[in-house]
Amino acid sequence: MLAAALDREAFTITKYDLDVRLEPEQQRLGARGKITLRNDSQHPQKTVALQISSSLSWRAIRAGDKPLQFVAQPFTSDIDHTGGLSEAIVTLPTEIKPKDTIELEIGYEGVIPLDMTRLTRVGIPEAIARHTSWDQIGQSFTAVRGAGYVAWYPITTEAADFSEGNSLFEVTDRWRAREAGSEFKARLKISGGNAERPFSLICTPSESISRNNEEQVASGDCSWQQLGDVAPTFALGRYVGEWKSPVSFYNLPGHESGAKTYLDAFVPASIFVSEFFGKPTAPVAIADFADPHAAPFESGTLLLVSMADQDRKLAGTNLVHELVHSAIPSPRPWIYEGLAHFAEAVYREQQGGRDAALDLLAAHRAAFVDSERDVADPRMKDLGQPLAATFDETYYRSKAAYVWWMLRDMVGADALEQAIHNYRALDDTNPKYVERLVETASKRDLSWFFEDWVYHDRGLPDIRVQSAHLWKDENSKAGKQTQILTTTLENVGLTGAEVPFTVHCADSDITQRIEVRAKSTATTRVQTACTPLEIVVNDGSVPESDLTNNVFKISEK
Ligand SMILES: [Zn+2]
Repeated sequence: MLAAALDREAFTITKYDLDVRLEPEQQRLGARGKITLRNDSQHPQKTVALQISSSLSWRAIRAGDKPLQFVAQPFTSDIDHTGGLSEAIVTLPTEIKPKDTIELEIGYEGVIPLDMTRLTRVGIPEAIARHTSWDQIGQSFTAVRGAGYVAWYPITTEAADFSEGNSLFEVTDRWRAREAGSEFKARLKISGGNAERPFSLICTPSESISRNNEEQVASGDCSWQQLGDVAPTFALGRYVGEWKSPVSFYNLPGHESGAKTYLDAFVPASIFVSEFFGKPTAPVAIADFADPHAAPFESGTLLLVSMADQDRKLAGTNLVHELVHSAIPSPRPWIYEGLAHFAEAVYREQQGGRDAALDLLAAHRAAFVDSERDVADPRMKDLGQPLAATFDETYYRSKAAYVWWMLRDMVGADALEQAIHNYRALDDTNPKYVERLVETASKRDLSWFFEDWVYHDRGLPDIRVQSAHLWKDENSKAGKQTQILTTTLENVGLTGAEVPFTVHCADSDITQRIEVRAKSTATTRVQTACTPLEIVVNDGSVPESDLTNNVFKISEK
């Protein structure tokens, strides 16, 4: 009898317990260990599809002491850098009912060389692809990211296609959401290398390094109680380490001056973070790349970033970002990452003013403005990604950074700071917890804002000046001629916002803020002693679907 169609996402891997041996000389990885699978589907399951990178092969799969039958086959999917997976279709010893679990013993091995297939086959030139698809076990330098980049531990996913719209991101985000509560333990051991220049292994920021020169073995623990938005990542190189509590800095030989830039940026960054976000205490690691052009990557409080250059501003914002993680753990990606990106903007503002901060935020806007346009399109259904629930990076990083910035503009820096200081990850069990903290600190009802920006996704606002009328103020005293400008703003979007608008005169400006709810208008009056020439809505602090309709010229009548 034929089994029902294989549901590749029926099982969640709730626990990993792996022993991994790395042989950099041969680019090899061999793993043995146990995984726990939970049937999260509605139906009993007799088979499971376990997947690892296509450059690795399955050696053994057992339940208890019994070897299980499995069929190994290649499975095309862009979730892995090779563009393919080695899939084992495993026949389970018994049918696993919904919510039930089974523990399997597994073994697999192979190599992890540099591979840009999934990028080059959609036409990205190799010269560019190699700096983003940098994962490899190499003879002198190793850096390998987890699921979404290299399946160096088993995953269970449907096929992802990079060339087909959002397919790759949807499959990856679904995987990460399913695994967010999973426990991950991997003990990594390195064989080979030479005693004079031993390797250092970095995985989690704490307990990441142990070196044994005599036996020429480096080992380390990669463990998380809950993966959250972490993709387990490891790096191996001839690192030089420096520690400034709670940050470990690891640079490669030749990158000393860039490393010094980071060390120099540490004190001002940590003073800033301590003041506005709380004292950083959780361990953080910042580790160098051999390739000076490698795209940075962050996994929890481990940041991989090239220290080859000496960009002081970048070192400062990178440090601020990691220190905020260290100060404010949160199980919610939009809070954990959103606050860290928001902090970068506030830090930039402190150094270069509001415009510099808005420039930094503007670089985030491009990441989500197009998908938000689709969300607002009534013909497209169910595309929305509420911030409170999303595992899509562009939302929980870029959009969330704006949301925190708008909140600060609305309630003021002091009230927001107070709310952030009162935040406790352990108390964050209700999605409305943060709303309550900000409302308590600011004594303002912000439910409409959280409804529009955090709990739902209805696209972005689109605000413009609908009309502006200017008249003389009859009550103004003689000699002090003032005028009144009545302005009506219209928001055609499905999301409301409090937006700043500026009335420009020949040599002075007046800026005010006004709340314009979704599909609404709002009218306000501005008293002015000068003659208004134009009104500019939104200084860039509110992400809008259309920023081209924000200037309104006032014609003289
Ligand atoms: Zn981060």
